[in-house]
Amino acid sequence: MEVDGGRVTRADQHATDVLALMTAELYESFATRDVRLDGQALIAVKTTAIDCRPICPARTPLRKNARFNPTADAAEQAGFRACKRCHLREAPVDAGIAQLG
Ligand SMILES: [Zn+2]
Repeated sequence: MEVDGGRVTRADQHATDVLALMTAELYESFATRDVRLDGQALIAVKTTAIDCRPICPARTPLRKNARFNPTADAAEQAGFRACKRCHLREAPVDAGIAQLG
């Protein structure tokens, strides 16, 4: 039992590390409005429960308030609403920054 417990703990720790790494990279990309991220991931703000595209003109949330979702559906299931500024659901993925603002 102890061995199994230890294995689970290490696996969990590994998953947490990987997620933290990914999240740090994701956050940097969102913070710089990396257009390549558009369609890849969405950033949700825990404090406002709003989900945004990477190229949203809204202010990037603080790192501790940011949460990442793979799709708008996933975000919705997690309790987030689609942002009205970046037209999360309406805009085609390659709409581009020009149409935003
Ligand atoms: Zn937005």
